This record gives sequence, C-alpha cells and structure tokens, in this order.
Amino acid sequence: MAQNPTHEVVIIGGGSAGIATAASMLKRRPALDVAIVEPSEHHYYQPGWTMVGGGVFDAPVTCRSMASVMPRKVRWIRQAAATFQPESNRVTLADGSTVTYGILIVAAGIRLAWEKIEGLEETLGKNGVTSNYRYDLAPYTWELVQNLKSGRAIFSQPAMPIKCAGAPQKAMYLSCDAWMDRGVLGDIDVEFRNAGGVLFGVKEFLPALMEYVEKYRIALKLNQNLVSVDGPAKTATFKTEAGEETVEFDMLHVVPPQVAPQFVADSPLADAQSGFVDIDKFTLRHVRYPNVFGVGDAGSTPNAKTAAAVRKQAPIVAVNALAALDGKPPVADYDGYGSCPLTVERGRIVLAEFGYDGKLLPSFPKWVIDGTRPRKLSWLLKSEVLPWIYWNGMLKGHEWLVRPQVKTAA
Ligand code: FAD
Repeated sequence: MAQNPTHEVVIIGGGSAGIATAASMLKRRPALDVAIVEPSEHHYYQPGWTMVGGGVFDAPVTCRSMASVMPRKVRWIRQAAATFQPESNRVTLADGSTVTYGILIVAAGIRLAWEKIEGLEETLGKNGVTSNYRYDLAPYTWELVQNLKSGRAIFSQPAMPIKCAGAPQKAMYLSCDAWMDRGVLGDIDVEFRNAGGVLFGVKEFLPALMEYVEKYRIALKLNQNLVSVDGPAKTATFKTEAGEETVEFDMLHVVPPQVAPQFVADSPLADAQSGFVDIDKFTLRHVRYPNVFGVGDAGSTPNAKTAAAVRKQAPIVAVNALAALDGKPPVADYDGYGSCPLTVERGRIVLAEFGYDGKLLPSFPKWVIDGTRPRKLSWLLKSEVLPWIYWNGMLKGHEWLVRPQVKTAA
C-alpha cells in the first residue's frame, strides 16, 4: 500500500456500523471517496447468534465474507488501525503505514474482555462452558442444551455496558423453553446471575419477563459478578454483596465483560472515563474534533448498544458527516433508539424498543405489535424479517423507517 494515501472519508471498522454508514453516504453522494480500514475477512450478523444458541439458525447463515458486504465503491484497507493523530487528520495502521482523511468515522465496535474472568478462556467450548457472544461457540450452547437432562445451568451477565443487554437472558429463556419441551426442565435448576441490580433496565418490559422467570422457575440472583471459572472442576465463582460464592454447574453460559477497544481507549479520541469515542449523544460528532464521528458500539453515547441502534445512527452520521465535509454544522439528531428482541420462548418475543432515558420508541402501533407483551409477530420479525433487512437494506444504504429528519437552516 502506498504511504499516506488520502481519502475524503476514512471509516475504522467494517462491522454493522462501518458498512451501513459507508453505504448511506454513498447513496447520497456516489462519487464520494471512502476507505474502510478493516482487518477481518468475515462480517457477522451477531443478532443471529442468539438464534444459533437456541437451535433456530445454523451458524453459517450469520456469516458472510467481508468482500461481499463491502460497498462496491469503497476502498477496503485490509488491516487494523493502531493509533489516531486527529490533530493532523491521520490514522496509523498496524503495519506502521498511515492514511489521512477529511472526515474520520470510528466504528470499531466493543471489545469482549474474556480475560477479565480468571480461567474462562481456556475452558470456553468445553466442560459445559459456552457463550453466544462468539460465532464458534454459539453452536456449543445448543449442543449443551440438547444434552442436558438434569443438574444446574447458570447464565451470567456482567456489568454494563454490554452489547445487546438482553442477550444473556435470551439465551436462558430459549434454553428453558427447549428443556420444558423435552420435559426435563423440572430436573434442571436454572440460575440467572446478573452483575446488575435489575433483570432489565426499562421497567415497562419487566412484567412480561418476570412471567417467564416464574414459568421456567428461574432463580434470579442480582448483584453477582462472575470472577473465575474452573472448567475441569465445573465450578464458577461469583463476587456477591456478601462476599464470594463458588457454585457447581453442569452448564454455564457466560457473557464476558465488555470495554472500549484498547486502541480507541488509548487515543486522543477517547472519553476520559469510558474509553469509548467521545461523541455528542445527538449529533454523534466528536466533542473535540469536528471532523471526527463515532457510530455503533464504539461510541460513548448512552443508548442500548445494538444493531438496531446502528440502523438508526448510520444515516444520521452519514448526513452529519457529509455536512461537515461541506463545512456545515450537523443537520440531524439521534434520539437514542435501540431495540432488544427478547426471545422469551421459541415463537414469541418481547420486543423492547426504547431511546434515551428509557423512553419507549415503538416502531409499530400497539394494535400491530405491543412490545411489552410476548408476541408471535415479533418472532417473525426477528427470525425472518430483520436478517433480510440487515443484509439487503441496512448494509446497502436503504433507510426504511430510519431516514433522518434533516433540520432546515433557520
Ligand atoms: P461490530 O459489528 O462488532 O463491528 C466492529 C468491527 O470493527 C469489526 O468488523 C472488527 O473487525 C472491526 N475492528 C475492530 N478493531 C479494529 C481495528 N483496530 N481496526 C479496524 N477495524 C477494527 N443487536 C440487535 O439490534 N438486536 C439483537 O437481537 C442483538 N443480539 C445480539 C446478540 C449477541 C449474542 C451479540 C454478540 C450481539 C447482539 N446484538 C444485537 C448487538 C449487535 O450485534 C451490535 O450492537 C452491532 O454489531 C454493533 O455494530 P458495530 O459495527 O458497532 O460493531
């Protein structure tokens, strides 16, 4: 690669947010010179991993080659970004080469910090220890569910922030449903051990979720932080308010602690506290560097970190970044929309859709889908409609139901 090439727009990360934003920008300005820095050969539809762990999808339907989702006009730089020099509009890549930009968009996702739980990494994928948070492990969740007949199954959730805060319990409900179906649930003690103090952060969805906690006879244990796992001994240790507790398990579904990508946290772009890209929660523009934006899980905004949020954010970053490229102020605001389709049983979903401060933001009128109740139509949305919209709409710059409202000049 030539040293120090320049592009009008450089995007770091070719995940959901990076590809969707590039596609949205190119739809508006087809001649735009966009480069995406992305080392991975694969692109994943991560919301599908819950369905893989629940035996509904086969893992390969959630994975496509990066080449196949990269917008045709984008220059794909196949390596990792290493450091940022925003004062000189430059990014240094892992091989030491640099690239400069007019606009920088950081979409590098969130880092899964498996190493923060002692003993976990070496036992993942064996000894009954699994996680839907990795493509290669989600099928093992379903294998364990199918084989378990009795004993103790623990589902853990770490402290916030995590991507898709509902995913730890989605894994549990689908497992319970399968066990109930096979008539073995009565012989399995199911525990949900959550580092947080509530089952779910938005209260309107709690009654429906609690009905399932009761139906499946789940022991709900709050303020429990998983600190270590001994795979061969099949024990997990949690830090609790009373001290430490070590418990035996037959199946353990772990959701790892999650942090800002290290190279972002170490950079001048980072929010001092969280390490995520320090952006304005409405315009998604960097608070110190006006030609830098953040989108998706890598951003510091206090929304639910979901692909649904990305679907709404990407067009907003697209119009605001294009305005910045033209020397104009931001033209659209993000309302914090995110969505978490809680798979409470195979065939029914509680469709949590909400924005900043837990404000309910349903996409459909209540008579079509009441998001606070388990609904078959919501399952159809998750299992059929949303994956199709993801691959054919969102990643291609189609902004169905999420076209930004552009402010007109005063
Ligand atoms: P990602 O899609 O993770 O992409 C980040 C990209 O950055 C990756 O391609 C990575 O390779 C790249 N990258 C990393 N480091 C560098 C670097 N140094 N240089 C260049 N590139 C780099 N969302 C929903 O809306 N609904 C759901 O039901 C749902 N369920 C989920 C269930 C599970 C089990 C999981 C794991 C996630 C779920 N999500 C769900 C969340 C959703 O998948 C994420 O919020 C979404 O993928 C975020 O997109 P992103 O582009 O910010 O990050």
